[in-house]
Amino acid sequence: MKLVVLGGGESGVGTAILAKKKGYDVFVSDFGKIKDNYKEVLALNKLEWEEEKHTEDLILNADMVMKSPGIPDKSPIVKLLHKKGVPVISEIEFAAQFINVDTIGITGSNGKTTTTMLTHYLIKQGGLNVGLAGNIGKSFAWQVAENKNEGYVLELSSFQLDGIVNYRPHIAVITNISPDHLDRYDYNYELYIAAKFRITMNQTEDDFLVYDADDPVLVKWISGHTIRAKTIPFSLSGDNKEGIYVNGNNIISNINNEDFTMPINELSLEGKHNVKNAMAATAVAQLMRIRKETIRESLSNFQGVEHRLEKVLKIQNVQYINDSKATNTNATFFALDSMTTPTVWIVGGVDKGNDYDELMPLVREKVKAIVCLGVDNHKIINTFGNVVDEMIETTSMDEAVKMAQRLAEKGDTVLLSPACASFDLFENYEDRGRQFKASVMNL
Ligand code: ADP
Repeated sequence: MKLVVLGGGESGVGTAILAKKKGYDVFVSDFGKIKDNYKEVLALNKLEWEEEKHTEDLILNADMVMKSPGIPDKSPIVKLLHKKGVPVISEIEFAAQFINVDTIGITGSNGKTTTTMLTHYLIKQGGLNVGLAGNIGKSFAWQVAENKNEGYVLELSSFQLDGIVNYRPHIAVITNISPDHLDRYDYNYELYIAAKFRITMNQTEDDFLVYDADDPVLVKWISGHTIRAKTIPFSLSGDNKEGIYVNGNNIISNINNEDFTMPINELSLEGKHNVKNAMAATAVAQLMRIRKETIRESLSNFQGVEHRLEKVLKIQNVQYINDSKATNTNATFFALDSMTTPTVWIVGGVDKGNDYDELMPLVREKVKAIVCLGVDNHKIINTFGNVVDEMIETTSMDEAVKMAQRLAEKGDTVLLSPACASFDLFENYEDRGRQFKASVMNL
């Protein structure tokens, strides 16, 4: 059986190792450069590879191809494979066939990483030895090759889900859906929504789908399709008293016949979006029969994830917050919503078709000044120019942070929540967030 792995990154190398262990004839091909550390691993495992090319003779005779999620279906080599009828699957599909423990799959447009890490933390604190994988850290396939985990919590992008055939999570979570990555879905929002819902397509009556019942896109899709899994809604409004929800100042649920109450002000993560993430993670933990006391303690101890509403420093009573991961307006909406003091907002970058109007009420209410940080800021200036007192354009993080400091007064917050991708001025959102923190530390 010949398996070709397209893409020599984390998921590709992990898949190659697992496939070799399972007796496949494996070949790794990357159209870009493979990182040195991965080359070492490939050599150590006596795996064959090529880089900066796709040699068709070595690829098109595969029995099966694992495509890394970063490679679009439109790329010429994938088109050729489709034409030849060679199955092209994702790492999750490939690796899941070799485990006999349950997985929890978490997808959505925003909140995947936070919810995945929080869920993993709750279950781990509960004493179950579960692996954390998907788009985070060490690849799922690699862990399957090496580990004896009692389960896995997986962060799944729509690209990972595009490449599944039989993968069936015991518990699936969809955090929310808003337009993102539409370039990979022919600019058709319906196709993107359908890709997310692939997470539940193989589930049975023994499985669970946890979802945000306040999200109209999710509610509409669910009411129009047959879902075999038991559905567990979470909601900020206690209207339906179903699943897990907020009532007054508490999160309330009764899943697995366990009454659960958690005061919202005891959650370690702030903001309404994080109340949602906490409800999703709690629902999963309850389904996994983690003790209530452990869940409550863990929800109040969880340390949060870098670049997501991360508190950096307080300088002269001004709080600096790094939300560099906010690359769309929905994420920034929740960041602004959670501000409790006048805010100097650093925003901008590569706009993926943003509609800033949805932020207008929050900007009017909370933002006193805007520092634009991007190559092209005209949309932001046109939208908010008349709404805030001060509007400044900058082209480096250092300059942006210094300007923000100048505009902020005691008691204010400086929030980096760009609502845009970072590629005009930075390598990626991590680079942007790290530069922000470095500039703040230098003030
Ligand atoms: P993802 O992995 O889906 O990109 P993250 O947990 O990394 O999600 O968060 C991405 C951005 O979205 C951050 O700015 C974060 O503050 C914000 N965010 C987190 N959870 C939610 C949510 N449930 N709804 C909307 N925005 C969220």
